[in-house]
Amino acid sequence: MTDFTATRALFHIPPGVIYLDGNSLGPLPLAAEARAARVLRAEWGDRLIRAWNEAEWSTMPARVGDRIARLIGAPPGSVTTGDTLSIKVFQALAAALALRPERRVVLSDSGNFPTDLYIADALCAALGRGLEVKVVAPEEVADAIDESVAVVMLTQVDYRTGRLHDMAALTERAHAAGAVTVWDLAHSAGALPVDVTAAGADFAIGCTYKYLNGGPGAPAFIHVADAHANVAQPILAGWFGHDAPFAFERGYRPAPGVERMRVGTPPIVALSILDAALDAWEGVDMTAVRAASIRLSETFIREVEARCPQVTLASPRDPYARGSQVSVTHPHAYPVMQALIARGVIGDVRQPDVLRFGFTPLYLSEDEVVRAADILADILATGEWDQPQFHARANVT
Ligand SMILES: *Cc1c(COP(=O)(O)O)cnc(C)c1O
Repeated sequence: MTDFTATRALFHIPPGVIYLDGNSLGPLPLAAEARAARVLRAEWGDRLIRAWNEAEWSTMPARVGDRIARLIGAPPGSVTTGDTLSIKVFQALAAALALRPERRVVLSDSGNFPTDLYIADALCAALGRGLEVKVVAPEEVADAIDESVAVVMLTQVDYRTGRLHDMAALTERAHAAGAVTVWDLAHSAGALPVDVTAAGADFAIGCTYKYLNGGPGAPAFIHVADAHANVAQPILAGWFGHDAPFAFERGYRPAPGVERMRVGTPPIVALSILDAALDAWEGVDMTAVRAASIRLSETFIREVEARCPQVTLASPRDPYARGSQVSVTHPHAYPVMQALIARGVIGDVRQPDVLRFGFTPLYLSEDEVVRAADILADILATGEWDQPQFHARANVT
């Protein structure tokens, strides 16, 4: 059994907190603080614009991308970073659609994250060549792939239930029908072993502030498979995706490879923090993370089902059919979660009735998971959650 004591010491976990929301916003890696101070004072402050070269700011999107590549089974040089995931969805889907100009359907599922679907709707409307987004139930995706489908666009792990798609099988099915795939790894990268290369994924995208602990609004990543990297058409033809940004040519010429998916000036402060956060993954074996994550989530389900008859498991019972989160439903999920948070157990809720808990072995122990289940049982049994202060809704849930 891998011991994660050393990785836990890399994070700031506030005293008294059991953090079960690393699937939504990872905690602060201690190394990020020092790095942020350095990039502000010693790089920006002291070197000023010279830092683009002297502190190697200009190559950061690719260098950070390479570190993420290892975690998703992508070859070096096939991942770049920057912008937000919503923008990466737009770029990846547009490039994928351009590979199948004769087809009209983007196939996705009802478990996909709303922004992915909004962006797909808006892109299809803007391209205006009769494109449509077809949304089916997650278990119906495979059978809905036919020769009308240009792009199969899916999020591997469902943000509400944790249900895990079989990336390799669906990609194979898509390719057999002549479709291109866009995989959103927002809840996969850093959560479980991912191998985009073995799966044959055409495009993969994800954010880095969830399991990768890059901080609020951390830059997103995009991977383009080698076969498409030099032909993919960048819909956002920004100067940093140009082959020679500092030639200031009038015409756009895409950079070779995935670099063409860059848009504008990279967010150096945020990338530096992300780079420091990725130190925590050095030498970490994703199969060990997966094994530990399964142990944690199985313990949680066992403890909760034994002691909390008021809630119902909403995640797949088979640990290999879910990502690294467990959801349960309760008719008063919102105040129940507020009561939990007041007791130091931080998870989150998703409409209408889902209590969501993320399992992150890098900094979470079995002991804490058992205690979290204890506190949940207590809150439900005593009705502690049904107090006015727990019913008041905040902006962000
Ligand atoms: C978290 C998440 C997003 C968020 O997109 P941002 O542009 O970073 O706000 C998008 N898609 C999925 C699937 C997510 O899980």
